[in-house]
Amino acid sequence: MRIALLNPAPESAHPLGVSGEPMGILALASVLRAEGHEVALRDLGLLLPDQRAAALETVLEGAALAGISLTGGAQVAAMTDIVAAIDRVCPDAFVLAGGALPTFAAEALLRQIPRVDCVLRGEAEEALPELIRHIEAGTDWRAVKGVTCLVEGQARSQPLPRMVPDLDSLPFPARDLLPDLDAVGLQPTLITSRGCWAKCTFCTSQVFPRLAEGSLWRGQSAKYVLAELDALWSDHGVSKFRILDDNFVGPGTRGQRRAREICEGIETRGARGYRFFAAMRAEVINDDIMARLLGAGMDRICIGMETWSPSQLRRLGKNSPIEVNHRALDVLMRHRPETINLGCILFDPDTTPEELIANIELIAQYGDLYQISQLTSRLDVLPGTPAERDLQARGRLKGAWDGYRYDFSDARVGWAFDLLTGALADIAKLEQYCRKIDAETPVPRDSAAELGGALHRFAIDFFREVIGVCDALLPDESAAWRDEADRLQTRAKAMRDQTIGRLALIEMAATSAATTVAR
Ligand code: SF4
Repeated sequence: MRIALLNPAPESAHPLGVSGEPMGILALASVLRAEGHEVALRDLGLLLPDQRAAALETVLEGAALAGISLTGGAQVAAMTDIVAAIDRVCPDAFVLAGGALPTFAAEALLRQIPRVDCVLRGEAEEALPELIRHIEAGTDWRAVKGVTCLVEGQARSQPLPRMVPDLDSLPFPARDLLPDLDAVGLQPTLITSRGCWAKCTFCTSQVFPRLAEGSLWRGQSAKYVLAELDALWSDHGVSKFRILDDNFVGPGTRGQRRAREICEGIETRGARGYRFFAAMRAEVINDDIMARLLGAGMDRICIGMETWSPSQLRRLGKNSPIEVNHRALDVLMRHRPETINLGCILFDPDTTPEELIANIELIAQYGDLYQISQLTSRLDVLPGTPAERDLQARGRLKGAWDGYRYDFSDARVGWAFDLLTGALADIAKLEQYCRKIDAETPVPRDSAAELGGALHRFAIDFFREVIGVCDALLPDESAAWRDEADRLQTRAKAMRDQTIGRLALIEMAATSAATTVAR
C-alpha cells in the first residue's frame, strides 16, 4: 500500500516552530517499509509556510492511507489545510490520526474533524500494520486494538495495544528528513527509551504507560543505541545529535548501567567527535554519571526541575523533595556542561505570590542558567493528564482539548503573569540575541555578554518588584492595579529602548572599526 505520513506544522510566531525530527512517524515508516509498504513522509513544520502546500500535495500523491501525527494542540489548526489537500489529491484515502494528543482526545478529534476515519491510540508499531492488513483485505479494522472511531455517531474504542516490550526488536527509524532538518540547522534526534516512572500531574509520558500493558520505562540496549549511532555515522556522517528521551538515564541501577554502557561505547568512538544533548530527571544525576556523560561528549543537558518551591513541587507531583534538585544542581555546577537547561514551570493554576518569591530568589542565585523567557513559564494543561482531570473537576478549565486555558486561583498572580508576559517579551528577545552572538554578528562578544547580563539582572529585579506590588494590592483596588501596571510597563519599555540604543551604538562602532582595519 502507498502510505503518506505527516506531521502538521504547529501554529507559531516563528515561521518554523519545530523542535526536531518527528520520531513517531519516522519509527512507523521503518516498520511499514519492512512490511513491504511504500511510505512517503514529511514534517511540514520543518518547511517555511510558502513551501508547505506543494510538499503536502507531493507526499499525498497516490496515497491509499494518510496518517497524521499530532503531539500538541498548536498543530490542530493545520488540519484544515491537510484535510482539504487529501480531498483534492487522494480523496479515497483512509485517514487516521495518532500521537500523544489523539490518544487522549480521540472522540473530540473525530467529532471536530470528521474526515478522519479513525484514531489509533497508543504505540502503533504493532497495531498499524494490522489495521492496514484489514483495510487491504476488506475486513473489519474497527476491532484492531487502539482504534477509536465513530459508528453511527457513537464513539467506539478498542483497548490500547500493548507497548512494544522489546524496543531492540524495532528497525532503526527512517531518516528521510535529515536534509530538511539540516536546512533549518537542527540536529538529528535519537529516542533510546520510552516512558517514565514519575507521576508529574501535567505530563502525558507518565499517563500512557499506566494505561497500556508494559513497563513504565523501557530502554533500548546499549548495543542497539551504539549500532544506530554507527549507522547514522556511516550513512549520514552524523556526529552531533540530540537524545530526546524523557529520561535518558533510566531508573535505578539498571538505568545507570545502561547509560554508562552507552557512554563507554560513544567514548570508544571518540575519533568521530561526538557531541550530544540529553534530558533526564534530577534524581538520576550523580558525579559518576555526569563524568561519563561529559566524557562521551554530552555538551548540553536538560533537567526538568520545574520549581524551587516545595509546595509547588508537591502540587506538580514531581515526587522528589526539593533537596534532590539542589543536589543535582550542585553536581551540574561541579561538572559544568557547556549548556545547562533547567525545565521551569513558575505559573500553574494555583501558584501563590509566596511561591513566586521563593522561585525568583533561587533563580537569581543560579544566574545565567535561566533565560528571561522562563520567568513567564506557565503550565500547559494537556488532555489525559491528572492536571486536566483536577481542573475539570473544579470547573476551572476553559477552551477545548486542542488548547485548554485557565485563570489563576489568585487574581494577583494573574495580574502579575499578564504584566510580566507583556513587559518582558522584548527584553527576553534582546537577551536571546545577546546570547546568540557569534563571529557573524557585528557586536563583540564581551559587549553582548555585558548587555545580556544587564538585561538578566533587570528582569530578575523587575520580577521581584511586580510580585512585591501584586502581593500588596487588594482585590478592590482596580485603579491602583492599573496605575502600577502602567508604571511598570513604562519601566520595562525604557530598559528595552535603552538596550536597543546601546546595541546600535556598539554595532556602529564595531562596523566602523572593521572598515578602518580593512582600509
Ligand atoms: S519526570 Fe518528566 S517525563 Fe516523567 S512524568 Fe515528570 S515531566 Fe513527565
